[in-house]
Amino acid sequence: MAVLVTKHLITLALAASISVALMEISAQETPAQTASPAIAGTLSSLERAAGVTDPGYSSPAVVADTKSVDPAAATKAWLATVPRDQREKSDAYFEGGYWLLLWNFLLVAAISIFLLESRISARLRDFAERAAKLRSIQVACYAIPYFLIVATLSFPLNLYEHFFREHQYGFATQSFLPWFHEQLIGFGLTIIGGTILLIALYTVFRRTPRTWWIWGTGVVVIFLFVVVFIAPLFIEPFFNTYKSLTNAEIRDPILAMARANQIPAKQVFEVDASRQTTRVSANVSGVLGTTRIALNDNLLKQCTLPEIRMVMAHEMGHYVLNHAAKLLTYFGIFILIGFALTRVFFDAAVKRWGIRWRVRGIADPAGLPLLVLILSTLLFIVTPLLNTVVRVTEREADAFGINTSREPDGMAKAALKLGAYRKLDPTPLEEFIFFDHPSGRARIRMAMDWKAANLPTGESPATETMPPDRR
Ligand SMILES: [Zn+2]
Repeated sequence: MAVLVTKHLITLALAASISVALMEISAQETPAQTASPAIAGTLSSLERAAGVTDPGYSSPAVVADTKSVDPAAATKAWLATVPRDQREKSDAYFEGGYWLLLWNFLLVAAISIFLLESRISARLRDFAERAAKLRSIQVACYAIPYFLIVATLSFPLNLYEHFFREHQYGFATQSFLPWFHEQLIGFGLTIIGGTILLIALYTVFRRTPRTWWIWGTGVVVIFLFVVVFIAPLFIEPFFNTYKSLTNAEIRDPILAMARANQIPAKQVFEVDASRQTTRVSANVSGVLGTTRIALNDNLLKQCTLPEIRMVMAHEMGHYVLNHAAKLLTYFGIFILIGFALTRVFFDAAVKRWGIRWRVRGIADPAGLPLLVLILSTLLFIVTPLLNTVVRVTEREADAFGINTSREPDGMAKAALKLGAYRKLDPTPLEEFIFFDHPSGRARIRMAMDWKAANLPTGESPATETMPPDRR
């Protein structure tokens, strides 16, 4: 859930509908559902599989013989173990997410145009100017009512998408009041973070009206970095409790993989995600000193040790491959290009409609809805690209995970469980546009390819070769 908050914060950062959850590197996915899963999936590796209560997937006969695995046939056999009604349900859930992507975008666009056309935005700015002398305080006086209006107008869709729909598909575990309470906390954090970000951005807009897109990118990247850094300390605790995993049978094999990969972890964290959801997940969050790898209680309850080892090895892959820093860099480039384009469109729109909307220019807070409109439109258009950037890093983490855990069947089973909320066997075009993680089919295929390659274990007698210094 913490991800939701980050999502909101960044939403502000880039535009009202951007959901950058830069914190958890892998699977916090509800990819298609958020306007920009792109960033969301990113640092977020919550592998959530939905409430599959041990489906009892067992190795199909065709994959049983390790010596002669036909990867294509084995992949098919794994996919065939999922009952048809289950497959139809998860397909429907995920495909519904495609539409939500569109509805969310249209809603943000409609709210923005409404605030401009009705001149509510201009009146809010007038109010802020009367209320305070200091420019930065004026920005805050504009921002807080703005957030309230947007949150209120988008509440019905939010309620459907994140409450009713999640219950309808059996993923949610919260009744309305606890859910609503968390929404309020998230909204409070959004207001605080969003207002700080807007004050910083508008300072840049005022000082450098021509080159704001360069310095503004810097502000957003620093903001994202700070959010990711403090998330485990100051955001996640509002929603979930992280405690040290004490079951040695699970913990020790995970720590062994960490040691083998130079990860300085002395404990594994367990998060009580079952408070909100039935999905299986794990995540890496934080950056620099705050990085931690955690698995959720649903994963512990629903998965076997091989599956858990594979999922955790995947999360370690994000850490070892330095995905947080890489994604932050990629997004920085996206933001820079987006801001450069925004500058052109913003100025053109103000030239044409500025008088009607009573928006004076980029440094005028009354223009915020226009800024949000342009940024969310750009974001909507590049969704497939952002998804692909994230999906590629997820694939890297998968490759790292399979090589570290050496659990091809565990990987296949985990992929099937994640398939409860992500379409298992999409068309290539679908995967390109909507998937910020590889599909179940792609993951199982990778696992079976790995299995078929039959790599040697690398255990040779220590005395067989000369020590390095004698060579
Ligand atoms: Zn991941």
